[in-house]
Amino acid sequence: MDVDKTVDEYYQQILKRNPGEPEFHQAAQEILSSLKYVLRKDDHYADEGLIQRLAEPERQIIFRVPWIDDQGNVQVNRGFRVQFNSVLGPYKGGLRFHPSVNLGIIKFLGFEQIFKNSLTGLPTIGGGKGGSDFDPKGKSEHEVMRFCQSFMLELQRHIGEDIDVPAGDIGVGGREIGYLFGQYRRITGRHESGVLTGKGLTWGGSLVRTEATGYGVVYFMQEMMASNKERLHGAKVIVSGSGNVAIYAIEKAQELGATVVAFSDSSGYVSTPEGVDVELLKDVKEVRRGRVSDYANETDKATFHEKGNIWEVKADVALPCATQNELGEEDAKMLADNGCKYVAEGANMPCTPEAIDVFNTRHTLFAPGKAANAGGVATSALEMQQNASRDSWSFNYTDQRLRDTMHNIFRACNDTANEYEVPGDYVVGANIAGFKKVADAMLAQGVI
Ligand code: NDP
Repeated sequence: MDVDKTVDEYYQQILKRNPGEPEFHQAAQEILSSLKYVLRKDDHYADEGLIQRLAEPERQIIFRVPWIDDQGNVQVNRGFRVQFNSVLGPYKGGLRFHPSVNLGIIKFLGFEQIFKNSLTGLPTIGGGKGGSDFDPKGKSEHEVMRFCQSFMLELQRHIGEDIDVPAGDIGVGGREIGYLFGQYRRITGRHESGVLTGKGLTWGGSLVRTEATGYGVVYFMQEMMASNKERLHGAKVIVSGSGNVAIYAIEKAQELGATVVAFSDSSGYVSTPEGVDVELLKDVKEVRRGRVSDYANETDKATFHEKGNIWEVKADVALPCATQNELGEEDAKMLADNGCKYVAEGANMPCTPEAIDVFNTRHTLFAPGKAANAGGVATSALEMQQNASRDSWSFNYTDQRLRDTMHNIFRACNDTANEYEVPGDYVVGANIAGFKKVADAMLAQGVI
């Protein structure tokens, strides 16, 4: 078999079938380049249209979401749920509310989610993703609630604890999950805890779920550094973004003795050479829903750089935790020139392929999001376990499960990279380890 030619044909088919979806193309190309290593050793993974089936979502739902704003005007948004692959379990993946959302973005996120969920090592989670082009920024509480209720009025037909279990993502946090769950409960007449994750603690939520993605990224980084006989303690760290993932990555990195020297939002970045006051940051972002500039205005230990580039800050470690393609080739060069030796993606696909090439040539150890940020979905799976057994676990126990999961994911990436003779290439390691479990299950379950 001519592996390069076969894989190129797969990619051309994906381009042809999915025009105008650059983020999906990017995610697919990355997986396909890793699969070359697999097919060279074992070409039965090309049997039965396996890879073509994997690249095609099982189901794509697009729906109208009408709602009424505070002025009494009708607004119309578009809702999406892409149920990508359920071979390992019910579809599982977040909902994103952001004006940039379109089908291609949801497909890239859903595709990545298949391999991420497989990598967690936890049984029974398939891959999916959803969202809307609704922008929660600047909306009143009641507008957000009415939007969520209208969104759920349609989504409820397609989800369920054994069918599809959404969670949060950009623009969807505890508040939105509350409104969505309330509406699901009202429509169905059932308190079906396992239908959504990220719930409040008194109605089926799990301790550590809020912190899980950010903490998990830092646990993964600890593993990467330990493999090089280095420690996070004493390191300078950049964390981009200031949402759920960023805040808890900052908190855990500092708890472990690192200094977080910068964080950001889409308006600019804040430099904090002496570290971040996490309580102030939480108050500004989580309680008051403010901007990072508000943080800088309230302390004399921080400077706001409007429209500035966060990657120009000197640091040992970078954790991009905002959004896709936020870190490009020039940014990667700047980081490497400034001595940054470790990068782990808290966001999904925040580094462009060109940036990753720079990290590889400059020997900056790099971890892809599907491995490094899998702590969020892993803890969602733990929330589902607690719901199924009507139990609730302690913070320490759940946190230990999260740590163990991140340790196992790191080992899977590391060992697979070694097995395929690309030591330290966690992209190849993560993609192959995630792929094989899904592919074996698809082959076992037949062509469906
Ligand atoms: P939040 O909505 O809580 O925060 C998003 C942050 O990213 C904000 O600081 C936001 O700034 C910034 N941001 C969003 N879009 C852009 C943009 N186009 N340009 C610059 N900055 C932007 O989201 P999360 O923290 O939950 O998610 C962040 C990333 O992590 C996403 O890629 C998500 O898919 C990924 N992720 C999240 C998980 C979770 O459990 N929440 C799990 C795994 C991955 P601003 O307010 O200015 O828009």
